[in-house]
Amino acid sequence: MNQLESRIQRELARLREIGRERSLSSSLVQGARMRFEGREVLHFASNDYLGLSFDSRVREAAQIASMRYCAGATGSRLISGNHPELVMLEAELASWHGAEASLVFSSGYAANIGVISALAQPEDVIFSDELNHASIIDGCRMTRSKVVVYRHADLEHLYRLLRETRCQGQRFVVTDAVFSMDGDIAPIGDLLGVARRFEAVTVLDDAHGVGVLGTKGAGTLESLGIPVADDIVVIGTLSKALAAQGAYVAGRRILIDYLVNRARSFIFSTGLAPSCAGAARKARKIAEHEAWRREKVLSLSAVLRAGIRKLGYLVLDGSTTIVPVVVGDEHNVMEMSDFFLKKGVYVPAVRPPSVPEGQCRLRLCVTAAHETSDIERVLAIFGEWKQIAHNDYLVTSLVKGGERR
Ligand code: PMP
Repeated sequence: MNQLESRIQRELARLREIGRERSLSSSLVQGARMRFEGREVLHFASNDYLGLSFDSRVREAAQIASMRYCAGATGSRLISGNHPELVMLEAELASWHGAEASLVFSSGYAANIGVISALAQPEDVIFSDELNHASIIDGCRMTRSKVVVYRHADLEHLYRLLRETRCQGQRFVVTDAVFSMDGDIAPIGDLLGVARRFEAVTVLDDAHGVGVLGTKGAGTLESLGIPVADDIVVIGTLSKALAAQGAYVAGRRILIDYLVNRARSFIFSTGLAPSCAGAARKARKIAEHEAWRREKVLSLSAVLRAGIRKLGYLVLDGSTTIVPVVVGDEHNVMEMSDFFLKKGVYVPAVRPPSVPEGQCRLRLCVTAAHETSDIERVLAIFGEWKQIAHNDYLVTSLVKGGERR
């Protein structure tokens, strides 16, 4: 074993010792069911919020695009990979958001790091919510700008920091629109008001809002009746409610032209495959026109949230498809997740670094593929666990987990 492998071995051993070594399990999601480690289970684990990943129209669209054009994009967009399916997808995404243009990246991670690192210059200051997704954090780290972290959704704190932090260039406020591990929605209307007082540009990552929120499903801004403007940059993913892979930025034409020239994760990466673009186009169209999917998933989520809360568990406030049940202790959350799995339901446990220390949680994602009977089944298991774990155990863990960072 060489020096590098010894170091790796030590790190893996350390993770194993603290119970945080992760490994991949074989899984295949098909609607609300999933093959997990060779067994069929009900799951609350996927981001396929509208239940479209298994939809035959979407899968057929992927097949058609692949047959019409090619399997892979063959190169980066600026060289050979700018196939017609991508061009059409971008036009449709822009019009959906009421934006002048959009640009597709190969993932949400790539979009966030590419956009933030292209826009923010050394003289700029980025104000970032403390619970932002890892890809935003990494994007900020890739800049040479000053990064100032504000307390989660705390606009007074944001205002104070904006006022107190000297900035010789451009100010940016960067936030998840729907927080991925907490399921709450950023106070976007007021946040824009604060940002605008300092002429800050707001970058909104709407990965979990697109498809799910808004009358047409165009996401959090649409649901609030806020139009895309020259001081708002919207990032959406194709990998969640839009059932495919990839992500996009929507905004002004000049912004998109700039990103084509300056976003390194766009320039130096192969274009999205035609099959993904084709699937995303079809899923977007269905998402826009089949409003019942949004209504169903949001109403099932509300029933689930209320039911778990009624049993005495700590469920974070929110009105989205993400239902986090904070347990606090890492050992307890793993035990609970195992208990659910034994009962035939996969509910993933989320631990650091995905959430702060002491705030481990079960994170349930509801989709339009779920039925009321699925919600009842998982509620019954929460009820059983409460009996088994005993109130003392339950209450201690809830109190511990109740504080937010
Ligand atoms: N932003 C947020 C808020 C996310 O939750 C995620 C993925 N979970 C991403 C970006 C990254 O998107 P992708 O998986 O398409 O890379």
